[in-house]
Amino acid sequence: MAIELRLGDITKIPVEAIVNAANSGLRGGGGVDGAIHRAGGPSIMQELRAYKGCPTGSAVVTGAGLLPAKYVFHAVGPVYMGGRGGEAELLASAYRSCLRLGEELGVKSISFPSISTGAYGYPVAEAARIAVEVVKTTSIPLALFVIFDEQTLKAYSAALE
Ligand code: ADP
Repeated sequence: MAIELRLGDITKIPVEAIVNAANSGLRGGGGVDGAIHRAGGPSIMQELRAYKGCPTGSAVVTGAGLLPAKYVFHAVGPVYMGGRGGEAELLASAYRSCLRLGEELGVKSISFPSISTGAYGYPVAEAARIAVEVVKTTSIPLALFVIFDEQTLKAYSAALE
């Protein structure tokens, strides 16, 4: 399998599964979640209404609406509270849940944003290290990290070395 790093908007890059950094209520939000719902259209939220929510560290699947993908995996990363609340394991688990969904659905490509490092405040260098370590283990042929800003890109680039 291959892991690639891109700078850009995750809603614009065609893959089979796009990962969203969702919140546990699955009712939409800002950041990448807002961008995904805006670009994907209302069908994604319609499908999410079937779920009661999603625990931190796991993920649920919907179709991708108008996005250039088949699926969206809505992953819930932890809010960073200093690092002693099991955040590292919860973040790893959020990535793992998406890989498991992708493997079960037989997707050939998957894209990830930098889960938890925006509004949820996870330190980027540490989050990047965890993301890369987990994503390296997948059998999905192509995994992309689609990163929105240069600072975060540097952290993922360092973690991939
Ligand atoms: P969280 O609540 O999990 O921290 P955020 O959406 O606030 O999620 O931020 C996660 C990361 O997603 C941040 O690095 C943010 O800059 C980035 N991001 C925001 N919009 C997009 C987008 N359209 N494509 C890719 N990444 C994005």
